[in-house]
Amino acid sequence: MSLANGRHYLAIPGPSVMPDRVLQAMHRAAPNIYSGALVDLAATLPPDLCALAGTSGKVAMYIANGHGIWEAALSNVLSAGDKALVLATGRFAHGWGEMAERLGIETEIIDFGLRSPVDLARLSEALSADKDHRIKAVMVVHVDTSTSVRNDVAGVREALDAERHPALLMVDCIASLGCDRFEMDDWGADVMVAASQKGLMTPPGMGFVFFNEKADALRTGSTNVTKYWDWRPRATPEEFYQYWDGTAPTHHLYGLREALDMISEEGRENVWHRHATLARCYWAALDAWSSEGPIEVNIADRANRSHSVTAVRIGAPRGTMLRDWLTQKAGVTLGIGLGMAAPGDPAWHGFFRIGHMGHVNAHMALGTICAMEAGLTALGIPHGKGALDAAALVCSEA
Ligand SMILES: *Cc1c(COP(=O)(O)O)cnc(C)c1O
Repeated sequence: MSLANGRHYLAIPGPSVMPDRVLQAMHRAAPNIYSGALVDLAATLPPDLCALAGTSGKVAMYIANGHGIWEAALSNVLSAGDKALVLATGRFAHGWGEMAERLGIETEIIDFGLRSPVDLARLSEALSADKDHRIKAVMVVHVDTSTSVRNDVAGVREALDAERHPALLMVDCIASLGCDRFEMDDWGADVMVAASQKGLMTPPGMGFVFFNEKADALRTGSTNVTKYWDWRPRATPEEFYQYWDGTAPTHHLYGLREALDMISEEGRENVWHRHATLARCYWAALDAWSSEGPIEVNIADRANRSHSVTAVRIGAPRGTMLRDWLTQKAGVTLGIGLGMAAPGDPAWHGFFRIGHMGHVNAHMALGTICAMEAGLTALGIPHGKGALDAAALVCSEA
């Protein structure tokens, strides 16, 4: 018997749940893209995006997913032959680094593995070894969605400053903007990238590059930048269509406007607090389960865990069994493991991820946890007791 009929909950780390308000805002006929309401609406987005990111810098909006936005950011500041230092704490940092290489950028990768954040001491060593400042940019992922590690971006800036190293600090906040605290200016990030389909609760298809004056100065010399990726016309729009270099992403704009309104109605601090509390709710349950049996949160230290996604180790084939059970019997879908084992390797089935980003609340987290408990029991996967009590207690104290 399946108990899955009812509203399905896709609890994967992006695309995230779309609020009804966002969907309704998008449900309309095609608007005029040359003048009128849509043009006015588009101009309201950059100030709100910058406020959310904590920057007085600029933002360029693109029609692109996260991968496109990676390329947009790199091509504006780094040319073929330039060198970048990639701080790798999971699949996404490696992916961004690989993209840099395809642009002819030389990369030095410090690999911190799949279970730890950036080690700032090792970063300092690499920076101090770079005596003639060949490294033009340090690339780091704030929340790596594959490992669910969260890196200390302000700490990376302190390491750069302590070494008096002039490299740009480039940060991927695709999985953290609108979920985890991020203060672009205070933390000293020069370039930051984000996308629409995670904390911003809008369908995939729009991406954002935030940048300051220091980064824009490097734009002048870039030989990689193409007309489409150039951030300058997009960040200083005299004409609406210059934002887009073609047809505007009409319905995304309505959806994003609504999502940003929802974030400002709730308040940035409250949004972060909600994500932090729901993350702790999941961790409390996972701690209880892992007291007996094979379940383990990938990142041991809570201080280094993302508030938007949690990667879990459970041993093959239990990860896939549990995910399938939850989809088929309980109407909730968890994310696959990513970057932990190669697809095709039987070990691939030993991981899953829970997305708790964006439009999520206590009953969604508590419901998912209770459904997971039912799945563990039904499948005979050993697990410690008390998960539901522990999770409820976290929410009761919020
Ligand atoms: C999702 C994600 C990406 C890639 O975004 P796409 O839209 O899938 O290309 C990159 N970095 C991080 C941290 C992500 O979470």
